[in-house]
Amino acid sequence: MSLQDIKNSIRNVPDFPKQGIQFKDITTAIKQPKILKETLEMMAEHYKNQQIDYVVGVESRGFIFGAALAYMLGCGFIPVRKKGKLPAEVLSQEYSLEYGTDKIEIHKDALNKGDKVLMVDDLLATGGTTQATVELIKKTSADIIGFAFMIELDDLNGRAILNKTAEVFSLIHY
Ligand code: AMP
Repeated sequence: MSLQDIKNSIRNVPDFPKQGIQFKDITTAIKQPKILKETLEMMAEHYKNQQIDYVVGVESRGFIFGAALAYMLGCGFIPVRKKGKLPAEVLSQEYSLEYGTDKIEIHKDALNKGDKVLMVDDLLATGGTTQATVELIKKTSADIIGFAFMIELDDLNGRAILNKTAEVFSLIHY
């Protein structure tokens, strides 16, 4: 199993959700047991010697990789959700979308000062979503020690902004 095999398992859907977007569909990858296993093992390998307390995953595809990675690294998983979904007291962060704004939230008591956090999502594009999560996590005073993605769209250079906070690791590049 090579990185090329993993790349070949990702389906490209042109013009979804709108004209001009090349959507990287991971469902064709993660339905294959060997691809799912290898992808997660390669991601976990990168962090095996780092002391991570929590993996934070962003709704919703960040949950798929985030929870599995947390299990493999022997740490806890914390969800960041779209507004109004978390039941207890939350911290919120507004962020810009192409049209208007949206909000992401984390439970107020989910992280404490000094906790070491790895952030995980399926794909890094502009970095806007992840940077909003960085701002959210900063409100908790936890330490972000890295960003892990299955896929990175290099041309959009999302890593430029994230690199200011911590190391960016992506398995597959386009
Ligand atoms: P961004 O905030 O621009 O880095 O966008 C990242 C989020 O949007 C991730 O959660 C991705 O799941 C999703 N996303 C953005 N662009 C694509 C794409 N071309 N294919 C699949 N998902 C995408």
